[in-house]
Amino acid sequence: MVGALPRPFLPLPTAGPIAPRAGPCNPAAMVDYARVQLADLPAAHVATDVVRRLRQAGHQAFWVGGCVRDLWLGLQPKDFDVATSARPEQVAQIFRHIVEVGVAFGVVRVRHALPQAGIHQVEVATFRADLGYSDGRRPDAVAFTDAEQDVLRRDFTINGLLLDPMDLTAQGAQVVDWVGGLADLQADLLRAIGEPQQRFAEDALRMLRAPRFAARFGLRVDQKTAQAIQEQAPQLARVSVERISSELQAMLTAPSASTALRLLADLHLDRVLWPELCAADPGLLRCQNSFKALHNQEVGAPLLGMLAVPEGAQWPLALAVLHQPLRPVRPADLGRSLKLSRPHTQQLAAIWQLADALAQPVSDPEAIRHLRQDWADHALRLLLACAPESPHASWWHAQRQRRAATPKAHWWPVLAVTGDQLLQAGLAPGPAFRTALAAAEDAQLQGGDAATALDAAKAAYARVSG
Ligand code: ATP
Ligand code: MG
Repeated sequence: MVGALPRPFLPLPTAGPIAPRAGPCNPAAMVDYARVQLADLPAAHVATDVVRRLRQAGHQAFWVGGCVRDLWLGLQPKDFDVATSARPEQVAQIFRHIVEVGVAFGVVRVRHALPQAGIHQVEVATFRADLGYSDGRRPDAVAFTDAEQDVLRRDFTINGLLLDPMDLTAQGAQVVDWVGGLADLQADLLRAIGEPQQRFAEDALRMLRAPRFAARFGLRVDQKTAQAIQEQAPQLARVSVERISSELQAMLTAPSASTALRLLADLHLDRVLWPELCAADPGLLRCQNSFKALHNQEVGAPLLGMLAVPEGAQWPLALAVLHQPLRPVRPADLGRSLKLSRPHTQQLAAIWQLADALAQPVSDPEAIRHLRQDWADHALRLLLACAPESPHASWWHAQRQRRAATPKAHWWPVLAVTGDQLLQAGLAPGPAFRTALAAAEDAQLQGGDAATALDAAKAAYARVSG
């Protein structure tokens, strides 16, 4: 593959003749090519059109980063990012609808529509080099440069690939690789671009991205890269909570979470992130098992007419599994320390509360009152993931199945007994009223009819009011 194929669609400004040259990433050759098939996805068509429009205006433009890596691996990209020689103000002249997400860094989001592909957002970033990292978090300044410099500032070789969607043959579109990413993908290797020590000193978050990508794609972490992470792991503490949380969310909600946790421990990042957890669970071994179990659980599609398993809350559920060994933990404290959104904090609290309520079998009406709550399936998944050997595991499993198979009307029956009926039956309003109404609903939840429910209400009222 080395340098033998034709040059990309537009000549790169500072690339010079394609010849092997010495460099930190791939000493044998610095430009490599491959062809990959483009995905026939609406977002891909929109991203191609964004490149076309930039080219028509005289700029260079390529797909870059994760989308190229995913296509090479035969996976469907989540989104498509474009890198271009156009400055943000030039991008703004070409596209009418843009959102400025980081103009200082040359990043804008283009909302672009195509007749058959609909509206999609594509992140368009000007080729840049990052200048100086005095705080170990973000560049002090950036300089707009060329495509090659732009890929050199990226984190890992597999994330440093460019793709020219306009250079399309039967074999696919041209991928341009300045960093040895293609060779590393072929060798199942995750490797920092450039000198790992320096790259992690610039931005310590990159260290946390390593286990995420290595686990997700089944890669080995290159030895020099791994050693640099082990040495600099404590520097992760300098990174903002928001950036760490967002990486952890991507890592722990993925099916590869358990492998990522193993790698985190191998790379000595676990003790920086979670010292207390490591004391309770050295090497995060129990935690790895819990995440393996969590992601192996069946998550059925909600059936019409059944209780919904709400989408979302995967992050609160992952946090609940992660922190289960440290309980009791106050969700509000955890939410504050991780800067969780308010809905996520509330979902975490609800999952834990329901898990506590369902930790052991309870009477059926009581179980139903818990099981019909929104996050009950998540709570059962938490219990099964963290305590698969519990004597109650088969009951938890049965409750999940029952929740998925029982129509909604069973969980929320139309109440057969109302307050008015109790008044008509001669009961006086007061605290015992609520108990009476709950007893009526319990009777219905156990299959009783209206008359049985009313009898149950009266009996409960009589019991409570003495
Ligand atoms: P995913 O599919 O998980 O989104 P991705 O590769 O698209 O994977 P992003 O976090 O969306 O990852 O980042 C987009 C690209 O930006 C990366 O592929 C990489 O080239 C670059 N990048 C992101 N974060 C960093 C960083 N901290 N340092 C250097 N380059 C980065
Ligand atoms: Mg991405």
